Amino acid sequence: MKLTAENTFAAAVVPGVEDKFYYVISADCVMCASCAEACPVHAITEGDGRYEIDPERCIDCGTCSYVCPLGVPQPV
Ligand code: SF4
Ligand code: SF4
Repeated sequence: MKLTAENTFAAAVVPGVEDKFYYVISADCVMCASCAEACPVHAITEGDGRYEIDPERCIDCGTCSYVCPLGVPQPV
């Protein structure tokens, strides 16, 4: 599904909307914590070997991907 202003807005503000977007962190994470510090809704926590994003909290803003030195967080 293509990311548009309309569906990004819906995913961010409408609880339970289908096709909600969120970001995920792969095993390429080097545990620098930059994403967790930058996330405006505190959706990122330290996990086992990588940081993890709570899809229920993520509002798909993209800040984590922007601040990550490796660009690890990516939308799904
Ligand atoms: S996309 Fe935004 S809200 Fe979601 S985890 Fe990244 S910084 Fe947080
Ligand atoms: S900013 Fe990137 S490398 Fe650092 S903890 Fe987050 S995902 Fe991992």
